[in-house]
Amino acid sequence: MSSTIKNTIILDGVSLEYYVRRRRVKNTRIEVKPWGVLVVLPVNCGEPLELIERNKNWILKVYRRLKENELLYQSPVNVFPLLGASYTLILDEQINKFEVDHIRHLIRIGSNFNLAGFKNFLKKTLLDRILLFLNSLPGEVDKQYNKITIKNQKTRWASCSVKRNLNFNIKMISLPVKLIEFIVFHELMHFKIRSHSESFYKLVACRYPDYQAIRRILNEYFIAFNLNKLWQLICQPHFSKQTISSNVFRLVGLGSMSG
Ligand SMILES: [Zn+2]
Repeated sequence: MSSTIKNTIILDGVSLEYYVRRRRVKNTRIEVKPWGVLVVLPVNCGEPLELIERNKNWILKVYRRLKENELLYQSPVNVFPLLGASYTLILDEQINKFEVDHIRHLIRIGSNFNLAGFKNFLKKTLLDRILLFLNSLPGEVDKQYNKITIKNQKTRWASCSVKRNLNFNIKMISLPVKLIEFIVFHELMHFKIRSHSESFYKLVACRYPDYQAIRRILNEYFIAFNLNKLWQLICQPHFSKQTISSNVFRLVGLGSMSG
């Protein structure tokens, strides 16, 4: 159906990652993202490198502007966003793995902390929120999904398949609950209309008339979470349970935070 290829290209000395997606589309499309370039091509034609070279100046201009914006979204190394709030990370040798304090917005990192366990906690918390929202929706909303999967998605918040499988980006757990719900609702509307057509957005607007503003805010959050130090560690493709402990936090500069 579709495939994604990742590669690197250097444009005027700037090294950019680029993803090539082959889709059943008529026209080619380039999107510039904070991590690089996304090229969407028809299944059997189009040469990504040639397309990137031809649009080099525009790509670099947009990319530089995004990089400037990134400075605005930098968060301190000892902060982790959770459900729309900024939680402070604290190293605490008294604790085994980790403890999340939702009242004081603290995450205590213990001596046996491992990222896999923390990631599971984030996944479960997000899944609970999604299921809670699905249950709260009135009966007339078509919410008959097949399967829900939560994973690291590098380029988007969510997707849904023709088989009604819903895929959600694990970083959604950092968003305010209202925005998590917005993303879920958006995907449910794809059960009715697959494409992002005008009639699709009319369905979204029934519940979220300010959906355009929400999308802009979601883009900003996307940039901010990608810059967050702990999210970067969590999303490393091959982190090891053994090596990533609280020692890693000392390496990234967190150790000094707890004194
Ligand atoms: Zn969509």
